Amino acid sequence: MDSTEFRKRGMEMVEYICNYLETLNERRVTPSVEPGYLRHLLPTEAPQEPEDWDQIMRDVEDKIMPGVTHWQHPRFHAYFPAGNSFPSILGDMLGDGIGCIGFSWAASPACTELETIVLDWLGKAIGLPDHFLALKEGSTGGGVIQTSASECVLVTMLAARAQALKRLKAQHPFVEEGHLLSKLMAYCSKEAHSCVEKAAMICFVKLRILEPDDDASLRGQTIYEAMEEDELQGLVPFFVSTTLGTTGSCAFDNLPEIGKQLQRFPGVWLHVDAAYAGNSFICPELKPLLKGIEYADSFNTNANKWLLTNFDCSTLWVRDRIRLTSALVVDPLYLKHGYSDAAIDYRHWGVPLSRRFRSLKLWFVLRSYGISGLQHYIRHHIKLAKRFEELVLKDKRFEICNQVKLGLVCFRLKGSDKLNEKLLSIINESGKLHMVPASVGDRYIIRFCAVAQNATAEDIDYAWDIIVDFANELLEKEQH
Ligand code: PLP
Repeated sequence: MDSTEFRKRGMEMVEYICNYLETLNERRVTPSVEPGYLRHLLPTEAPQEPEDWDQIMRDVEDKIMPGVTHWQHPRFHAYFPAGNSFPSILGDMLGDGIGCIGFSWAASPACTELETIVLDWLGKAIGLPDHFLALKEGSTGGGVIQTSASECVLVTMLAARAQALKRLKAQHPFVEEGHLLSKLMAYCSKEAHSCVEKAAMICFVKLRILEPDDDASLRGQTIYEAMEEDELQGLVPFFVSTTLGTTGSCAFDNLPEIGKQLQRFPGVWLHVDAAYAGNSFICPELKPLLKGIEYADSFNTNANKWLLTNFDCSTLWVRDRIRLTSALVVDPLYLKHGYSDAAIDYRHWGVPLSRRFRSLKLWFVLRSYGISGLQHYIRHHIKLAKRFEELVLKDKRFEICNQVKLGLVCFRLKGSDKLNEKLLSIINESGKLHMVPASVGDRYIIRFCAVAQNATAEDIDYAWDIIVDFANELLEKEQH
């Protein structure tokens, strides 16, 4: 494809994307296909000869789209939002066009410097303390874009592990490192995302999963008692992962309490995973949810969830960048450059070497919407969630199962878990609406999240009508 054809096909692609997004509500939300469906529609080998572009696009519509779950559909209410917006798509397109691989400052200075600057912008807007900002006088911290929240948790745990092992080795110089490793204990709540468990598996450390309170919030006393008990057993607490806005029910761990208790265990790394909720802290009225952040060593939120930025764009800030990078530095000669001491090399801040120009899309989003536009978007979703909550509360057959602080409402039919499983299953099978369940406090709940960027009050009412129709049908069947 030459640039003349790229211009033509590029315009067509923009047209295709616009049509797709504008007519989404004519499609089923979820596909009705069985595993392996695509294998029967596509050849078993790549074409030997070039194929016609129009034919490829026809196959997109006829073969690929029938297997797509439409996350931007106005009736998609599962998981959390998948960030998407035109400025972000265009920013990503430009990044792809530039096609640089910014693993070090020298590999593409703008790629590194823009990332540092936009992470400072966003960190300030969220209300992170100054020590998390790279360009603040005297700060030792800074921000970086990772692929996912899971990676943020993993790299902070790796850094905490390296710090803890260094300390232990200094105290016990003749003890083998493998033995010291076997003593390390990480902590999180039962409501933490499963990525904490995965990180502990990769780091080869023990993880103690603690019971939260009745509001699904992990409390300071629980952490304190667990750590004290473990220390008495000869174990070494080294890392705590807290969550602001849990995946199941958007609950908030009690960060001020936990932070205070951790003062009694110097050297323990406190991480805050706010993958979804963290974006909302750009609104002044929601900043109280961030209370306790002054105790944290690191904080992550996914702009690619709730800040109109396409995947991938998971933002991580650390209090002390040397503590992060010292766990990850490997410095072969072919990657060294003349400014290694003076500039940031993001390859030391994460697992991969190669890095996309991801800050461009975030920069386009922050500039095109402004913080005020993004606040409006967040508040709009919260308003929609509140509207949904009111509808649920009006129908006495249902109950609300979480404190609706942001865009997620958890609800269920008053009745057994089985009944609620059936309800969700018939709704999802219909393809009219998509939600997912969670287990909170060992109860099966249905999660309804405000997701589509421009969702309206009518969309929420319509979704509720669908839920009520299926509930009526199910309850009637159950009576006979
Ligand atoms: N942490 C929390 C609180 C989440 O809600 C999620 C996903 O929803 C994750 C971590 C995992 O995010 P990612 O897919 O970016 O790894």
